[in-house]
Amino acid sequence: MPSPENVIIIGSGPAGYTAALYAARAELEPLVFEGFAWGGLLQQTTDVENFPGYPAGVGGPEMMQQLREQSERFGARLVTENVTRVEFADDPGGLHRVWVDDEEHLARAVILAMGAEHKRLGAPGELELAGRGVSYCATCDAAFFKDHDAIVVGGGDSAMEEAIFLAKFTRKVTIVHRREQFRASAIMLDRARSVANIELLTPYVVEELVPSPKGALQLARLRNTQTAEQLEMAVTGAFVAIGHVPTSEIVRGAVELDENGYVVTEGRSTRTNRPGVFAAGDLVDHTYRQAVTAAGSGCQAALDAEWYLRDTPVRGKALAA
Ligand code: NAP
Repeated sequence: MPSPENVIIIGSGPAGYTAALYAARAELEPLVFEGFAWGGLLQQTTDVENFPGYPAGVGGPEMMQQLREQSERFGARLVTENVTRVEFADDPGGLHRVWVDDEEHLARAVILAMGAEHKRLGAPGELELAGRGVSYCATCDAAFFKDHDAIVVGGGDSAMEEAIFLAKFTRKVTIVHRREQFRASAIMLDRARSVANIELLTPYVVEELVPSPKGALQLARLRNTQTAEQLEMAVTGAFVAIGHVPTSEIVRGAVELDENGYVVTEGRSTRTNRPGVFAAGDLVDHTYRQAVTAAGSGCQAALDAEWYLRDTPVRGKALAA
């Protein structure tokens, strides 16, 4: 049986790495399972212009690399593996169990920071055409659509960002949004509107994504939500940017989740309903969901874990005095 860790952090991104940084600086020697997709959704972002301290902006992947290095500098142990199973103790001071396949790890405290994933549209054709015209990441896939026509589905900041990036490659991008009002911030909406080859189409939903005989996307069937008018648009790309769902599957049944799958925390703390298990970032937050708020809650989780370890009678590895 492995000797118990003080803290295991599951997940990376701004919340996980900030928790790792704080826990490492508190000399808790955190073990971080950062996941194969380390860095989370920011790895798929282009410029981050609203994270304080970067007056000229910073690339999402570059920021994640720097955060990662910063946590390692103070002794966080990063493991690029996905956690496959957890079992959390019910009693204060009890040891929590975390598995990577058959390999078991014990910890007195656990910080959950698995973030969120792209929400699926649920339209017929979407799943079959994923990677064959349907994408969730313009930064990753835009170059495949040089001089093609594409749609971006969604009306938030992500949809604007995807469309602006995509428009550098494609002939035309149509942003398809289900309401006339956009959820996107004024600055992002204005930017999208000012790009010559971006058009906005409202209020439309995607009814179906239709493949060509060769099995790649060739047509999007759209429906006007007010008039029910149908519209067929010949496109080879459909970028879905309609928000996110929390990556909470591995902790379902282990901690309390709300009806949308977000981990429930107590008041303004990061405490879950299990003593010694804390949660931070997009896994918890369905309101703000910013890199800076995720980083802030990662800091809170590390402090909550540190105080828990200080105040809870030791039943595992003792903290250094
Ligand atoms: P979001 O703000 O939740 O917007 C999701 C959009 O998708 C909404 O317009 C929503 O429509 C639409 N939608 C949701 N489900 C749909 C469905 N089933 N079919 C069709 N449309 C659907 O999500 P987000 O754009 O990913 O942004 C998340 C957070 O990240 C926000 O706080 C945002 O500010 C932030 N963010 C910031 C930046 C930036 O500043 N550069 C970039 C990306 C994201 P309704 O409006 O009708 O609900």
